Formats: sequence, C-alpha cells, structure tokens
Amino acid sequence: MSIAEEIEQIKSNLPNHVSLVAVSKTKPAELLMEAYKCGQRAFGENKVQEMVWKYEALPKDIEWHFIGHLQSNKVKYIAPFVHLIHGVDSFKLLKAIDTEANKAKRIISCLLQFHIAEEETKFGLSMDEATEMLNSDEFKGLEHVNISGVMGMATYTDDENQIRKEFASLKTNFEKIKSDFFAKKPEFKEVSMGMSGDYLIAVQEGSTMIRVGSIIFGMRNYPI
Ligand SMILES: *Cc1c(COP(=O)(O)O)cnc(C)c1O
Repeated sequence: MSIAEEIEQIKSNLPNHVSLVAVSKTKPAELLMEAYKCGQRAFGENKVQEMVWKYEALPKDIEWHFIGHLQSNKVKYIAPFVHLIHGVDSFKLLKAIDTEANKAKRIISCLLQFHIAEEETKFGLSMDEATEMLNSDEFKGLEHVNISGVMGMATYTDDENQIRKEFASLKTNFEKIKSDFFAKKPEFKEVSMGMSGDYLIAVQEGSTMIRVGSIIFGMRNYPI
C-alpha cells in the first residue's frame, strides 16, 4: 500500500476523538511530503537536529511533535516551533521548556510521560514523582507550559494482556491527575498511547492520540 493508503486505513480504524501523529523519524523529507499531500499535518520526531532540519525544509503548517527523550539543554532548538512535547519525564526538563518557551514568547504544550512498561529502559515519571511536581509551588509558577495530558509506551511484547494492562494503567493515571489537578482545565485531555504494533489496543483502552511510524512509512533501517 502507498503512504496515502496506509494513512487512510489507519484513520478508518480510529474513532473521531483519536488523532494520528505520523512518526517520521529517520525518514526523508520526500516521504513526509507524500503524507502531507494527503492531508497529514502532525508528524513525530525523536531527534532534535532531525526535527529542526525537517521543520526548515517542509511546509510551515506542519505540527511538529517531539516524541523522544529530550535533553534539557537541547530544548532551545525546538522551542520556537514545536507543537507538542510528548516526553516530559522530569521536573528539570519541564522547567527548561518553560524557560525556553518564555524566550520564544510562546506557551508550549506538553504531556507528562509515565513509566508504564516493565522494561527499565523506558523513560517516564512515577505517579509519586508527578504528584510531587504538580503540588509544588515551583510548578504553579510556570507560565509558559501548558500540560495537555499524558503519554506512555507499553512493553515490547506479544502478550496482549500485558499491553492492555499497561495502557489501562496510563488511562487511570490520566483520570486521577485530571481530577486532582486539572479538573477545571479542558486543555488537559490527551492520552498519547499506541504505536504500530499496539494502537488498536491503545484505542480500546482510551487513547486520544496514537503515534504510528513503521506501518505508514515502512520499517526503519535501525531501531531507535
Ligand atoms: C518510534 C516511536 C513510535 C512509532 O513507532 P512504530 O512502531 O514505528 O509505529 C511511537 N512513539 C515513540 C515514542 C517512538 O519513539
């Protein structure tokens, strides 16, 4: 299937309230343009330099989603244009985003990344860490970030039940944080979960935003 057909196919599986971020990391600009031409505007990247050159090379109405682990000292390169930072996994990073958003005269939307997988390698906050951060006065003073929801990655496994359980736990975290801290903030609404191998399960468990790469653009040459 072509890129356009793959995108159509995925979208036909999605309820209206679930959006698709096309994960284009490692892929050349021509392939992103193919997706762009059939209406796709949200693209996900996980390397700062790659996102910057693609931003410079491609149409300006693209929404750039940063989906990887972001180092605090690199926030400045994407702050002027990034649409949503999915992987906020420390208070230090959130403070750096606030500082750089201020310099860029923007308010940057962010998702809190939770550690829901069994693997040690996946980044993310625990519920305790998130709660402590959200309760702090320092957090309340941040004026240039807009916390729009949560993000997580399930364990890389064939065990569907395990994946389902992990996604359900992210959804539970979302509901708890929403009622404890964002009850009056309609912008806190996104649950970013689901990739090529597990997005249908993620949608069933309450995802509002899926991040799909290899189904659309083909396998990547190296795993990242
Ligand atoms: C690469 C990546 C994706 C997309 O993975 P696919 O399996 O290619 O769909 C989604 N989310 C994150 C955080 C990623 O790094």
